[in-house]
Amino acid sequence: MERMTPILYLVVPCYNEEEIIEKTAQVMKDKLGRLLQAGQIRQGSKILFVNDGSKDSTLMLLHRAAAEDSVFSVVSLAGNYGHQSAILAGMMAARKYADVVVTIDADLQQDIEALDKFLASYMQGAEIVYGVRNDRNTDGTFKKGTATAYYKLMQLLGTKVIANHADYRLMSKKALDALSEYQETNLFLRGLIPTMGFASDVVYFDVKEREAGKSKYTLSKMMTLAMDGITSMSVRPLRMIAALGFCVCIFSVAMCIFSVIDWLNGNTVQGYTTNLIVSLIMGGVTLFSLGIIGEYIGKIYMETKKRPRYIIDTVVWKDDAAGKVQDEEKTE
Ligand code: UDP
Ligand code: MG
Repeated sequence: MERMTPILYLVVPCYNEEEIIEKTAQVMKDKLGRLLQAGQIRQGSKILFVNDGSKDSTLMLLHRAAAEDSVFSVVSLAGNYGHQSAILAGMMAARKYADVVVTIDADLQQDIEALDKFLASYMQGAEIVYGVRNDRNTDGTFKKGTATAYYKLMQLLGTKVIANHADYRLMSKKALDALSEYQETNLFLRGLIPTMGFASDVVYFDVKEREAGKSKYTLSKMMTLAMDGITSMSVRPLRMIAALGFCVCIFSVAMCIFSVIDWLNGNTVQGYTTNLIVSLIMGGVTLFSLGIIGEYIGKIYMETKKRPRYIIDTVVWKDDAAGKVQDEEKTE
């Protein structure tokens, strides 16, 4: 399928980034200019900053940049809603005007030169392109270790995450329209987007040191994201309760048999066997019942998200009466 050169929107979430934001704006504008000249993107491409309730002068600097050059747009959120919500806000604002949106951090850690590869994948038909970091050498051992363990855990819990993919990602308008159908409030884009389907591709890029300012992902923000990732994508932890309950039940039955044998042999003190059997059975049954309830809660939980049950990629519809062939693309 031949694709038209796209209008690109870069969506950049910013939270207290006053030390670096002017440089970021300059670097991104340069890159966009070069892409435009090379004919990789179309006139009308923009850089959309999303101010996520910054408490420093970030917003003022963004407004100044936007006043000087129309290549910059600014959406400012009413408070600090967090990285995931900020990029969602940006993507939803941009999808009305853009053919493709790339989300990228404000700190220039993610190599902006990789945009060429993202766009090439799009031109070859990908609707979603995931940026995956080449290595984690710029991270401390703690972050590296926890991140690796976390991706393993997510995979174990049955969530489709792409290892070492943060939120440097290209999405086409079609994919964004589909994403807008998801109503859930607990947002973990990295887990959600791979479940959508669509032709996708992976692009590798280098991660650099943060040039200025400190990481805005505090430990508590990271923990919240990690927990959100697990609880918003997987109901497997609930199922584990049922499995545990089942194991305890089996164990209780075995223990009951042993204690009865013990009792028959006269090896126990008065009342010991009855006591043991009652508490074992109660424990096992309670835990197992909780697991069954958990199974239903899991279902209710998934229902409340009202996720689309399917997403249509393309439609070919031949209208016999008119003798016309309509070739439509739509998302439902
Ligand atoms: N960010 C945000 N809201 C927040 C925290 C972070 O919009 O509450 C933005 C931040 O400005 C940056 C991006 O999210 O553009 C990634 O944050 P950061 O670089 O601090 O994270 P790290 O690279 O250390 O994981
Ligand atoms: Mg960063």
